[in-house]
Amino acid sequence: MSARISITRTSNSRLPDLDFDNIPFGAAFSDHMFIAEYNGNKWENARIVPFGNISVHPACFALHYGQAIFEGMKASKSHDGKPMLFRPEMHAKRINASAQRMCMPDFPEDLFVEALHLLVGLDHAWIPPQEGSALYIRPFMFACDEYFGVRPGDKYLFMIYTGPVGPYYSKPVRLRAELEYVRAVPGGTGEAKAAGNYGGAILATEKAKAAGFDQVMWMDGHEFRYVQEVGTMNIFFVIDGKVVTPKTDGSILKGITRNSIMTILRERGYEVEEKLVDIHELIAASEAGKLQEAFGAGTAAVIAPISEIVYKDKVMKLPPVEAFKIAGLAKAEINGLRSGRVVDERGWVVPVQALEPAGV
Ligand SMILES: *Cc1c(COP(=O)(O)O)cnc(C)c1O
Repeated sequence: MSARISITRTSNSRLPDLDFDNIPFGAAFSDHMFIAEYNGNKWENARIVPFGNISVHPACFALHYGQAIFEGMKASKSHDGKPMLFRPEMHAKRINASAQRMCMPDFPEDLFVEALHLLVGLDHAWIPPQEGSALYIRPFMFACDEYFGVRPGDKYLFMIYTGPVGPYYSKPVRLRAELEYVRAVPGGTGEAKAAGNYGGAILATEKAKAAGFDQVMWMDGHEFRYVQEVGTMNIFFVIDGKVVTPKTDGSILKGITRNSIMTILRERGYEVEEKLVDIHELIAASEAGKLQEAFGAGTAAVIAPISEIVYKDKVMKLPPVEAFKIAGLAKAEINGLRSGRVVDERGWVVPVQALEPAGV
């Protein structure tokens, strides 16, 4: 099959234990995983093996100095049962952009995509059949040098594991504009999917939740005036019929869902503007009754509608989600592509060859 990636199948598939109608969220892992090792100058020993623990040295660099990056993507099953990936080459490029920022080695994009095909092909039976559900895919890379002291690592592991997730239903979320903590600043690591960004965001999120909100809306770190993202999603607004999203400035993650939504909406003739989104402009639009939609965008939820945004003593209420015409249209198109019900004219959906299942 592949000269570069060896495959060791499990002899003991855990698939019979999975109840597809009650998938434990984020806690189900498929039978196989991919591993490759970087030895200081090249990637080697690329292999697919049964899913299981790995052992790391206590001095493992990533645990101390945070050289760790990841991706999040999904494989789905078409309505007639064929496995497929969504824009895999964009994820391959993005993990290398993250790697560059964190002084980590590139991972060959063709090897990344090949590994995805083999892994998803082998564990295709783990892709839940229900529309809206998917096989979540987690590629990641971390430094594993055994050494005291900060310097770029020499040794890295690149791994991919997967796990089935049920349909992600997001009830409309209430947001608090975060005015104390900062997720990212231009020149920082916010544009990389670097592990530390998420650890650093937990406290603000927990405090917002304790105050009765669902998520934080991240603001710029200089003036706390320009909107960045919502939680771990990009953010979109519809103001007086026009679609607006914060422009990427080095502190905002370049979401693939964000890119897909902008492309879909522009093709349909909507005006989509990437710009600095000033909180005062949102407040004015809200007071004038022109803030029509607001939603988060990311791989997990595709679209997460927003019901309310609180900034200091200002409360911006959004119309009911049923009135979110533009969000609804973008979501239907992306989910339609993922289920094969919408014809893919952009080459975003990549079919995967199903391989002999595990455990035979
Ligand atoms: C992953 C991520 C997103 C969404 O990116 P997608 O490619 O659409 O999944 C947005 N913001 C942050 C901070 C993220 O980590």
